[in-house]
Amino acid sequence: MIRTENRQETITRVSSIAEMKGISASLLKQNLTIGFVPTMGCLHEGHLKLIKRSLESCDRTVVSIFVNPTQFGPNEDLDSYPRELDSDIGKLEAAGVDILFHPTVEEMYPAGYKTYVEVQNISEHLCGKSRPDLFKGVTTVVLKLFNIVRPHNAFFGEKDWQQLAVIEALVKDLNLDVAIIRVPLVRESDGLAMSSRNRYLSSQERQTALSLSQSLKEAQDNIRRGTTSAKAISDSIRQCLAEKEACEIDYISICDPESFKEKEQIRGRTLIALAVKVGPSRLIDNCIIEEF
Ligand code: AMP
Repeated sequence: MIRTENRQETITRVSSIAEMKGISASLLKQNLTIGFVPTMGCLHEGHLKLIKRSLESCDRTVVSIFVNPTQFGPNEDLDSYPRELDSDIGKLEAAGVDILFHPTVEEMYPAGYKTYVEVQNISEHLCGKSRPDLFKGVTTVVLKLFNIVRPHNAFFGEKDWQQLAVIEALVKDLNLDVAIIRVPLVRESDGLAMSSRNRYLSSQERQTALSLSQSLKEAQDNIRRGTTSAKAISDSIRQCLAEKEACEIDYISICDPESFKEKEQIRGRTLIALAVKVGPSRLIDNCIIEEF
């Protein structure tokens, strides 16, 4: 697993599925481990943390950039989703990534495409309630990408906690030969969870967006001070968010971090997850309350 051996200086850019499959087949033949980081691009330090973990632990790292249309609903931000391929390539090269896979939509979903995979139950809670197409699109594209890239390890961020759980279920239920590696949520120095969608925010909206992480921090403090009622915590988060203009709450969930069932009392390991629309951006954030 010495990744400096036979490494090339510049990134290999691949947009064809056949070519990507050929490269992966050749890496596997050489007994090299493949690390994979799927992204929608517009890369930030959160993505780079996942990439770093892959570079540290795998012989070769493949990053995909693909804004996946099947996970966007009809009135969502597919068209306006930020795309910055040139600057992303610079970041990937500086990081030392070996291969960038950036297929077109036509390559991934040619005319007549008709197959989708769906993880039931856990996909229906939280983000799945307000974005009914989201997880079906995510699991479909992730399974396709796994079949193309054939990674040993795939890296996903805990910023998208529910997405990680859905992908873990996909891998377990379909007996896929890939290890899913969880990477903790990366924040800006003032607490804002890093997200490509933060680019949409005006400076005033960015100030407002800080109330997501602030309300989670306040909730953690209240729980540490002895509050166990989920309703009391949820009310305090709601109040913190309501103080800000231009904040539209989608959900505040206090739930089991695996089944996503809502809790009445904060006992055992608990996920607090939020989705809030701030100006044009729907932002998510979460924290885990460890068992105490
Ligand atoms: P995206 O490009 O938003 O689809 O994200 C690609 C991957 O990066 C997913 O596994 C995300 O969970 C992860 N990711 C995005 N933002 C962060 C963050 N702030 N911290 C950790 N992981 C992140």
